[in-house]
Amino acid sequence: MCGRKATDGVVLTTHHVFHGNKFKLVSERYGMLLTLCADCHKRLHASRELDRRVQKMCQREFENRYSRKEFISVFKKSWLMPEDDRYYKQEVFLRRAVRTMLDEADNLHLE
Ligand SMILES: [Zn+2]
Ligand SMILES: [Zn+2]
Repeated sequence: MCGRKATDGVVLTTHHVFHGNKFKLVSERYGMLLTLCADCHKRLHASRELDRRVQKMCQREFENRYSRKEFISVFKKSWLMPEDDRYYKQEVFLRRAVRTMLDEADNLHLE
């Protein structure tokens, strides 16, 4: 998270996004791994909120590639709650609306 690399002299560690005995192996199988320096790794585990945020982001990425159904069949649960889905839908909608708005502004600019 700090962006430092091994060449900066820090020790890099591997974080399993979905950790704990039950999820460690599936995290490995699906590439849900983060390379972090030891400091950031410690910070991530110390913050439940940050940990959850990373998990939700990774679940969303997985679902964009596959589906919710597949995620649950692999991980046996969902980290994304109904309010996360509502928020996400709203985000997607707003992002599209902003893009359209900017495109239209661009067109006006060109004329
Ligand atoms: Zn770091
Ligand atoms: Zn970890």
